[in-house]
Amino acid sequence: MSGNGFDLNHRPVPLAQAVVDRAANNRLDEAWLAAAWSHPTTRVFVVSGGQVLVEDTDDGPRLVMTPSFDAPLTEMHRYFLGIDEEGVRYFALQKDALPGRIDADERPAGLREVGGLLPELEAGLMVHAVALENWQRMHRFCSRCGERTVIAAAGHIRRCPACGAEHYPRTDPAVIMLVTDDEDRALLGRQVHWPEGRFSTLAGFVEPGESIEQAVVREVAEEAGVTVGEVSYVASQPWPFPSSLMLGFMARATSSEINVDGDEIHEARWFSREDIREGIESGEILPPSGISIAARLIEIWYGKPLPLAPLLL
Ligand SMILES: [Zn+2]
Repeated sequence: MSGNGFDLNHRPVPLAQAVVDRAANNRLDEAWLAAAWSHPTTRVFVVSGGQVLVEDTDDGPRLVMTPSFDAPLTEMHRYFLGIDEEGVRYFALQKDALPGRIDADERPAGLREVGGLLPELEAGLMVHAVALENWQRMHRFCSRCGERTVIAAAGHIRRCPACGAEHYPRTDPAVIMLVTDDEDRALLGRQVHWPEGRFSTLAGFVEPGESIEQAVVREVAEEAGVTVGEVSYVASQPWPFPSSLMLGFMARATSSEINVDGDEIHEARWFSREDIREGIESGEILPPSGISIAARLIEIWYGKPLPLAPLLL
């Protein structure tokens, strides 16, 4: 979608550009996994608490990966992530802590910090590993019978030894939408806990028994008191903080009076493009983080990349 000549293909959604073949049909093949693990070209990185080790280079941060014979041995918490075009297999090891042997150039980093800076392949591997780790951490017990579950399928299933249930990774759908009015102004809100001046698109979780389009209409009405008519899907983004899938929309308002809920949204306003440009350039408006699909939705409406905030110049 490129309503104003601005094309997502030129500035793709961060974290949504995974380029490896996940080779999911190999996850249950223990012999294949063992051979893949011990292959000399296989690359491994450790994930711990949502962080990985990165190395800072002249071209930006790079994920620190080692051959598997150099990696700590924890078969249980070994996630198979996929195969690249050259046939290299990638694994993540979930550990209680990142490796202590940190060179001067290596440092721990989280997805919010480096997800938009890593090469696409590395960002895709990291987002997969962090999402699996978050799910594993919060689903250690069977939701059917309460027994402790065990990891299977190279990190992609948890099995219950008591009742036999198989549990698969959860992803929670959330909608995020840029609402525009008859004057082509954009509706942006400030959440209660955000700093003064921080504005972004409205967003919320899809409820049981609801379509994603219905969720867009409901959330905009709840958070800002604005009625929405036409809703069109733009793109999605994995958002493992801890387990969301953000579904991005453009939505057209059929009313303009704003009435914020005060619980989630403290303030909401209609912004013209001029308001956005002046606000960001003067530092009065803090746009959403560049890694978020919110920034892309705003850019589609704005027609080009957002101006840089003064601090970033
Ligand atoms: Zn069970």
